[in-house]
Amino acid sequence: MIWEPRPVPAVTPETAPYWEAAADETLLLRRCTACELTFYYPRARCPDCLGDDVEWTEANGTGTVYAHTSTNVAAWPEDDLPLVLAYVELTEGPRMLTTLAECDADAIEIGTDVEVSFIPTESDDVSIPVFEPTDD
Ligand SMILES: [Zn+2]
Repeated sequence: MIWEPRPVPAVTPETAPYWEAAADETLLLRRCTACELTFYYPRARCPDCLGDDVEWTEANGTGTVYAHTSTNVAAWPEDDLPLVLAYVELTEGPRMLTTLAECDADAIEIGTDVEVSFIPTESDDVSIPVFEPTDD
């Protein structure tokens, strides 16, 4: 259930710092300095007040499973099934659509504690944040 290396996502000037930080095993979020909302995915304007005074902030990498599903049927990655998809609610508040790794798919529940880990891609400047259970 590692599925490595992952495909390289489309990196834009807006998201490059996020992917580069992930390659250094750091999860970055965006924070609006006007209304103090911390948000994900990374973008240039605050999704709440639409302000453009946003900064990068380092997440501590912990959260809980908000919702999840798994599949044993997929065209790829056929060797790394089941594929467990989840919304993880980060300690800082935002929810990330992600995959769970190093886990028993049947043991995942809403509220399971997870922490981030990073899976390499074929680009040295990009890694993919995924999450692993911490209390199994
Ligand atoms: Zn804002």
